[in-house]
Amino acid sequence: MDEDLGTPVVDNHLHLDPEHGRGLEAVREFARSGGTHLLVVNKPSWLLGVEPDAGEDFRPVFETTLDAVASASEILDGRAWPVLGVHPGLVSKLVEDRGFAPAEARDLMRAGLECAAEYVADGSALALKTGRPHYDTTEAVWEASNAVLRRGLELGAANDCAVQLHTEASEDLTEIAAWAEEAGLAPERVVKHYAAGRLAGPTPSVMSEKDRLERAADRGEPFLMETDFVDDPDRPGAVLGPKTVPRRVRWLLDAGEGEAVRNAHVETPRRVYGVDTEATLDR
Ligand SMILES: [Zn+2]
Repeated sequence: MDEDLGTPVVDNHLHLDPEHGRGLEAVREFARSGGTHLLVVNKPSWLLGVEPDAGEDFRPVFETTLDAVASASEILDGRAWPVLGVHPGLVSKLVEDRGFAPAEARDLMRAGLECAAEYVADGSALALKTGRPHYDTTEAVWEASNAVLRRGLELGAANDCAVQLHTEASEDLTEIAAWAEEAGLAPERVVKHYAAGRLAGPTPSVMSEKDRLERAADRGEPFLMETDFVDDPDRPGAVLGPKTVPRRVRWLLDAGEGEAVRNAHVETPRRVYGVDTEATLDR
């Protein structure tokens, strides 16, 4: 019997790997704890054994995610949605391991994003994912990465969809918000994944640790909640587990933070992605 927390409960960023990881068992665990909706982000291409040479080569990575999302939606009282893109860490794999020039890596990663955007255009994916490395790089790699990120923002604008970002840890990404604006994408539709409880610029998708959530709830600005569950058998304890968002929602409700829960699970998903987490709930 699934727990009913009396509200939609959305994990805004996790990964599912039915072949190598826990896959749908993780979805069942999320649902049993009261979780209702998932945004499932494709795993980095190299973790699925894909070595791309062209944008089309990312298709199997995206198709794996679409399949996992279809199965997850069968399990959930709400539903799951795919978020597709190219992990920014790929730039280092290409440059350091495969001898790409930074500009070549940039072009390949942009082509991968363009392939991802086709799934948004035909309605099979909800949003795009891009970003830049969270670690130090050479100037040339940093420049190439920012060019990829900006292409992601342009594709978000062209396809009228939100863009999730993987970036360095920061509480001020107003520069990226300005790039979004320039590209014609509302900055609120840019989502920083793995965020702290506070962020200037894009919408924060807050890692569901108590101190971060407390800060986000106190701030009262739009925010989302996530675990970044990686579903990687080689890194079992690397991140928060699939039960974490529902558990933290219960904790927020017990603390009288009903408004923050509504913010993160109903209002902000609507504002950022245009989805209705209440209407998509059958209970
Ligand atoms: Zn992730």
